[in-house]
Amino acid sequence: MSTALNWPQKVFPLPDESLPGFLNRFARENGMASRRQLLSSLDLPAALHVRTSDVEKLALLLAVDLDALMAISWSDQPKKAAQRRSMIRAKGEAVCPECLKDAPYSRQLWSHRMATCCPDHGLRLIDRCDICMSLISHDRWHAQYCMCGADLRLQVSNKASDGERIFSSLLTGQSPGIDLPLDMDHGAPADIDLFVLGLAKHAAHNKEARGRTGLLALPNRVSETGDLLSPILIMLSQGHSAIEAYMSALLSDPADGSSSGPAKRFGRWYRLLFRTFKAPAYEPWRTCAAHLIAANAEVLLNARTRSLQAAASASRGWFSVAEAARMLKVSAERLHAGIDQGLISVQEQGANSTYRQRFLSREEVERLQQIRDLHIEDTAAKQLLNVPKSVFRLMGEAGWLVRSEPDQLPPVFSGTIQRVALESLIARLQQSCTPGPFDPEDSPCVPLRDLTLRRTVERQRLLALYRAILDGTVKPVGHDGSHGVGGLFLSQSDIDKHINRSTDVPVLNVEQVSSLTGSHVDAVKGWIKDGLLPATKALDLHGSPWQVHITDLVSFLMRYTPLATLAADSGWTSRGISAALSKANIPTHRPSSGRGDLVRQTALIRAVLSQRD
Ligand SMILES: [Zn+2]
Ligand SMILES: [Zn+2]
Repeated sequence: MSTALNWPQKVFPLPDESLPGFLNRFARENGMASRRQLLSSLDLPAALHVRTSDVEKLALLLAVDLDALMAISWSDQPKKAAQRRSMIRAKGEAVCPECLKDAPYSRQLWSHRMATCCPDHGLRLIDRCDICMSLISHDRWHAQYCMCGADLRLQVSNKASDGERIFSSLLTGQSPGIDLPLDMDHGAPADIDLFVLGLAKHAAHNKEARGRTGLLALPNRVSETGDLLSPILIMLSQGHSAIEAYMSALLSDPADGSSSGPAKRFGRWYRLLFRTFKAPAYEPWRTCAAHLIAANAEVLLNARTRSLQAAASASRGWFSVAEAARMLKVSAERLHAGIDQGLISVQEQGANSTYRQRFLSREEVERLQQIRDLHIEDTAAKQLLNVPKSVFRLMGEAGWLVRSEPDQLPPVFSGTIQRVALESLIARLQQSCTPGPFDPEDSPCVPLRDLTLRRTVERQRLLALYRAILDGTVKPVGHDGSHGVGGLFLSQSDIDKHINRSTDVPVLNVEQVSSLTGSHVDAVKGWIKDGLLPATKALDLHGSPWQVHITDLVSFLMRYTPLATLAADSGWTSRGISAALSKANIPTHRPSSGRGDLVRQTALIRAVLSQRD
């Protein structure tokens, strides 16, 4: 029995037809009494709840498209609520007379137990025949006639509420195209029926039902169902604003017995919103619930009410300090410290310090993330600049790095250097080069990454050069194409102008200075090393010897007298001079190299003057 039977009449399901309605129609057109007779003749169970596996057999036997048949069949995981197998109106249909006038067939929606209204005509569905007062059978011969023969098209139905009409649309998977208290970006949620039933059960006015387990019992009559659901359905016609009003009323409702704690009062209810109904359509409800949890000081959150905390954060509207710490990759202790200092704003829950909970809003967490992202530490800045540590230190001293005050920042940062300022400085310096390829062999130049104290003892002049590069007075002449600024070339003449003085002045080497001052070569090197005698390294000469401008030597000798020079003039030894000066209480200076002791001219003069007094 796996091939299609040769039916006298081809009958196809209509897209919104009810399954029993279609089967009745098929049976009738092919000379059978009803759906039941048809199913029995095919050796299939005659029950209204057709199993999904039987739907596949039916499609084959009736020679109809499986997808078309599936679309009107019951399902345990329906794509639209109207198809929910557990919601079949078992005892009879509830019909819309106007729809039957339009086209005489049973609509899928009419078999759903929560449907009270025709979405097209806005009329209450009728569930009993006016004439015989019986329920309207699923298995009547023609959809438009009651079993008693009465014409259902002539029977009167009342106008339903807007909420009922919207709800009926949603049951059929349609979006009514108005502002709903639901996020409709992903279409009508397939579990809207269960959601409404859940809300109805937990609603503030439904105190009795709240205590029971399981789904709310639905009445058999359409009118009673309408009455039961109307407080919920009315919200569907009130748009987004309905949510907060409803939720606030629920949160402030002292019912359910005065002895029950917040967990008991709200736990079940939040489970409904956050665990059972996860569809994106209910996001506005979750957000609202989370805001109210966080804002309602009466709701104490502790270990026993973890589900509420989970609920609050599930909406992604509020985050506990621990969660925020995870997101920001800092310790919760640091966040707490920042909160205590007033640098991070939070909602605090509960006057009782044991139960105190702090929640950060999504906006606050985003603000903190931004602050964290906009600040970098020295290592990262050095990598951005692509320079060695020595150059990075000089840049820092010359004001290249803009730092935020750590005391003014919420403690979520790992560094204080402002990333954006640094990036725009790098971009500006790179753009200030002459565009196009640059050959460092063509003209004497030095890459920025080599511009260190190795070239000069003139620290202040070197810093001045760095400042001149920063303010644009000195422009790089080219770039080696590497990232950052380490590969920027500066012309040798620019460097000379800042670090070395005019090239017309004669320069002396260390040996010449040694013989002129009667001091040992190591003593001269000691003065240079200690920054007492200005000198530059001649990087273009073999061995990069130190060079001293004669003007620098003159000014050095006007300030200091080497003890060796005094000794040579007086016939004493350096040690004898040193002892005499020490006896006369005149301070001398010994360079860090240990050689080349010096005495200040001013100290000698002062000593002479003080003896005259
Ligand atoms: Zn209708
Ligand atoms: Zn009747």
